Amino acid sequence: MELERKTIENDEEYLRQISKPVDFKKDDWKKAIKELDYFCKNDNNIMALASIQLGIPLRVIYLKKTNLERLDEDYNEERVLINPKIIKEEGLTRYWEACASCLNYTGLVERPYKIEVEYYDIEGKKHQEIFEGFESTVLSHEIDHLNGILHIDIALKIKVLTKEERKELRKKEPYQIIRKEKEYTPANQKINTKLITKFIKSFPIYQGKKENPYIILLDGYTGMGKTTVAKAIAKQDNSIILNNDEVRMFLNDYQDTTNLKNRLQKYRLERLLLNKNSCICDSCLAHNYQEKIKYYKKLGYPYYIIRLECTEEIVKERLEKRTVTKDNASIATFNDYLWMKENTKRVPVELIDFTINTAEDIDSQITEIVNKLKNKQS
Ligand SMILES: [Zn+2]
Repeated sequence: MELERKTIENDEEYLRQISKPVDFKKDDWKKAIKELDYFCKNDNNIMALASIQLGIPLRVIYLKKTNLERLDEDYNEERVLINPKIIKEEGLTRYWEACASCLNYTGLVERPYKIEVEYYDIEGKKHQEIFEGFESTVLSHEIDHLNGILHIDIALKIKVLTKEERKELRKKEPYQIIRKEKEYTPANQKINTKLITKFIKSFPIYQGKKENPYIILLDGYTGMGKTTVAKAIAKQDNSIILNNDEVRMFLNDYQDTTNLKNRLQKYRLERLLLNKNSCICDSCLAHNYQEKIKYYKKLGYPYYIIRLECTEEIVKERLEKRTVTKDNASIATFNDYLWMKENTKRVPVELIDFTINTAEDIDSQITEIVNKLKNKQS
């Protein structure tokens, strides 16, 4: 067949769109089914697919294997659901899910134990059916695809595993029914999925080209030139800047007591790295640096800490010159700098990889650092 599988590596934005309901008179839904059938028959690892995963953004789902006991067998249920709609969900289950569109990302996902679904079959006949247990897990994963939601968005934990490693993990931690009845309340879903979809529209996760992507962290108080340095590095090494103010603005919440900003920023960082982009975190590492470094270490990508230096007079001069525009709503003052200095210890010298004096020529200092990073990478 002519279609190529869409993945978060080759076209995340595509997968994020909302699929269109099939218009039986107009749409080429038969082609979608042919393609789904072809792909499912030729890949024994596939349990089910949504047509958007093959580049057809229609609300069509193909179920191949939904029998947990028979996953190792090569069998095919050949069930097609058109315009499926969940009308009721109940209970709670957990399973280490994988996805044909999400590389080796395996996520522990909570799903309803039972879903009642309205859908049309290939003859255009309407059905109402209850899907229970593992069937419900597979089908709700696919229905999420129709709304641009991926299992990694709602996973409690994510691991990068090969097929074999995933099999082993599923033996150790098999499909788990937490309860069969009562309201479906996924306990700890990281971020509301609608928000993720909206977030990715504002901050797209583009495909990068870095074979060994890295993270750059900045240790510098307000007024020491973080944003200037971040921009200069991004220009030289094509990395992507993650700026907290931008996310605050997106959320329209400048206080953000819910930690949502951090969770969104972590989500974005992890996905950018996965998509082969190096990232610069344009925020001060100093506050709670131990905890943050623990997180960066766990991600498994190299990270480098750059310390920014300049005199207090320069900080004062810079901050007094700053004026409030609509792009920097959370503008800091010299008092903020003094408060930070008083209350936050800087990252200890032994953890610092590079130092930049922001009162001097920043570009040439960065060129030197970027060259060193290139050597470390090869
Ligand atoms: Zn999937």
